[in-house]
Amino acid sequence: MLDSHGYAAQQANARLAPFSFKRRDPGPQDIVLELTHCGICHSDIHYARNDWGFTQFPVVPGHEIVGRVTHAGSAVTKFKVGDTAAIGCLVDSCRQCSRCRSGHEHMCEQHATPTYSGIERGTSRPTYGGYSTNYVVDQRFALTVGSKMDPAATAPLLCAGITTYSPLRHWKAGPGQRVGVVGLGGLGHVAIKLGRAMGAHIVAFTTSPGKAEDAERLGAHEVVLSKDQAQMARQRGSFDLILDTVSAPHDLNTYLGLLGADKTLVQLGMPAEPLSVRAMSLCMGRKRLTSSMIGGLPETQEMLDFCAAHSIGCDIEPIAIQQVNEAYERILRNDVKYRFVIDLASLRNQ
Ligand code: NAP
Ligand code: ZN
Ligand code: ZN
Repeated sequence: MLDSHGYAAQQANARLAPFSFKRRDPGPQDIVLELTHCGICHSDIHYARNDWGFTQFPVVPGHEIVGRVTHAGSAVTKFKVGDTAAIGCLVDSCRQCSRCRSGHEHMCEQHATPTYSGIERGTSRPTYGGYSTNYVVDQRFALTVGSKMDPAATAPLLCAGITTYSPLRHWKAGPGQRVGVVGLGGLGHVAIKLGRAMGAHIVAFTTSPGKAEDAERLGAHEVVLSKDQAQMARQRGSFDLILDTVSAPHDLNTYLGLLGADKTLVQLGMPAEPLSVRAMSLCMGRKRLTSSMIGGLPETQEMLDFCAAHSIGCDIEPIAIQQVNEAYERILRNDVKYRFVIDLASLRNQ
């Protein structure tokens, strides 16, 4: 077994604190990564606080992971020692079902194994995430990172990037399409960059007047202050696609009203509380309300390659692991531009 060392929450609402644990010995298909960077996704906070009710404690969060390969098993062909590699939100799946075979491992009929707060398949060992020194992962569930990509700015792409790339592709964002992005946080800021690079007309919706200038710099063609009813009214009926990334309860009916007929609102944010929808908001114009969760391995690699080709990285604020609890508080106060990324050297040097 490999020694690993990270930060964990022992129970809901506990502060994250140092935690030592073991990882499996690497098998022939496994690589070992020495982790260098891990983004802080709002889902990490939902998990650490048990917002969704299914967290396995102790939880070492982190599923936006970049590291260096320090060991490659005898059957590994995709990586060699010294390469930069990445891990996203899942580290295994049944590999047999039709969804796994078609590259949609995240929707595995037997449930994919989450990078943290899960159980390794065929064992009783918990999975622990990327706020840690190392990770042992099957090469099939690791991603390659282009040599020109900045590892810190790449890390958040492993969740925020794929979560927004996948629905933009699925609902064919591109030239001639008006795409709304609601919420300018980790997911929202990268959605703007990706949608812009795909050629769509991007309108950012924010509750934070202080982010309006940034939204344009990130690539939005228009910015709407969502608390301003006159600005909202001007957008009615005009959208082909809206990605809603808001992490807290909010009124979906308003955004359904901004869609054109037969158009789609994709709810990506996962507030703990149920969202309420009036049937009338949907039937007037046969609108679609749907959702999407991360993406499979092939599409995640496609997203990383797309970002490399378009020089897309996340706007990050680097922090040391010792600042993680303060970072959580700041995210909950909506005070981050636009993703905290933990420099994991801070874990080794403490
Ligand atoms: P984040 O960085 O905290 O961003 C959320 C944004 O939502 C904030 O920046 C803010 O944008 C807006 N917001 C926050 N509170 C609000 C409120 N009360 N009313 C209206 N707007 C509010 O979070 P994130 O990491 O992007 O994650 C967002 C959500 O997506 C979380 O619930 C997370 O769990 C979920 N998620 C889902 C998936 C998936 O696969 N579907 C994957 C990853 C994350 P403004 O300041 O611009 O208003
Ligand atoms: Zn995430
Ligand atoms: Zn499967």
